[in-house]
Amino acid sequence: MGIPLRQQMKVGAYVLKQHMLGRKRYPLVLMLEPLFKCNLACAGCGKIDYPDPILNKRLSVEECLQAVDETGVPVVAIAGGEPLLHKEMPQIVEGILARGKVVILCTNALLLEKRIEQYKPHPNFTWDIHLDGDKDQHDWAVSQKGVYDRAVAALKDAKARGFRVAINATLFNNAEPERMARFFDDVTAMGIDAIMVSPGYAYERAPSQQHFLNRRKTKELFRGIFARGKGKGWKMGNSPLFLDFLAGNQTYHCTPWGNPTRNIFGWQRPCYLLGEGYAKSFKELMETTDWDKYGVGNYEKCADCMVHSGFEASAVIDSIKHPLKAMARQVRGPKTEGEMAPEIDLSGQRPADFVFSRHVEQTMAEIAHEPKQKPVRGAKHGGTPAVAAE
Ligand code: SF4
Repeated sequence: MGIPLRQQMKVGAYVLKQHMLGRKRYPLVLMLEPLFKCNLACAGCGKIDYPDPILNKRLSVEECLQAVDETGVPVVAIAGGEPLLHKEMPQIVEGILARGKVVILCTNALLLEKRIEQYKPHPNFTWDIHLDGDKDQHDWAVSQKGVYDRAVAALKDAKARGFRVAINATLFNNAEPERMARFFDDVTAMGIDAIMVSPGYAYERAPSQQHFLNRRKTKELFRGIFARGKGKGWKMGNSPLFLDFLAGNQTYHCTPWGNPTRNIFGWQRPCYLLGEGYAKSFKELMETTDWDKYGVGNYEKCADCMVHSGFEASAVIDSIKHPLKAMARQVRGPKTEGEMAPEIDLSGQRPADFVFSRHVEQTMAEIAHEPKQKPVRGAKHGGTPAVAAE
């Protein structure tokens, strides 16, 4: 198990408290995206094709910490864009840790060796390095050769300096169970502290839509991988019931409010994957989103979704309600044989509504009225020049 005991206890105590307070909907992990700019241009990314004025915008330290305070979550995952391109990232991390929260900093690691001295190991802090598979698979996924080798070098350097280091792997439709299992063996041999997995999901903005998995394929793929991992000592960073869900053994509805997303547009509605409008505050997001309109079976855009940001919270809440079931999966691992759990009926779902560009147009209009700022140093999206410029 790749989730530290203190983190499990912190999250467990938080969830129990929410139940005792009778809260029907509450957040678990804040997805904080302080910028969209990146020094890669991955085919499966829905962020880096925004216009440059939007890619040059940042959330300030104060805005990031206010988002943490508004939600009260026990865990903050910082993503992007590439968070290490944000000059004030060390202050953001320190401020969140000072609030007693767990911080997971997601990075492609291209700038990690250069920036790492600005950070100190902390029991609540994890570097979460993006690695989608072995050298060829990862370099294909990020659309650039050499990235795997640089990420692995940075990963080893961070481990040698005493940091907790995880990898997160998004699996696409070309993933092969045998090859993924070998990759998990490799990163386990490197001494990483956790492997976090999620199936790729067709972001409506992602430029390359054909690489994402559908639900049946997802379940078969994960069964194939997990069957090969029995007894190998892989330290999985997802909850045991989420892994069991990926392997087709749990029928979960998503919990989109479980991982609310704050980025430069505001609070994303309804979840990290879909951008159907933005709220100005977390309270407004929770109170004015029509949550019943979303989720598998309710909305066409959700039909294939099994991603961690939608379903990990469902699994964690189920673990608290059914601790013996969770314990059994923790000890034995996900079930990889036998009939799968029933699938959710899609016959009543409403059709997709393509509304994603309105907030872009609105933000561009706001930027046009802002006083002129000094140009931001770094790359345009679409290659590596940001690395050189930084
Ligand atoms: S199923 Fe849930 S988490 Fe997935 S895209 Fe739909 S609302 Fe978001």
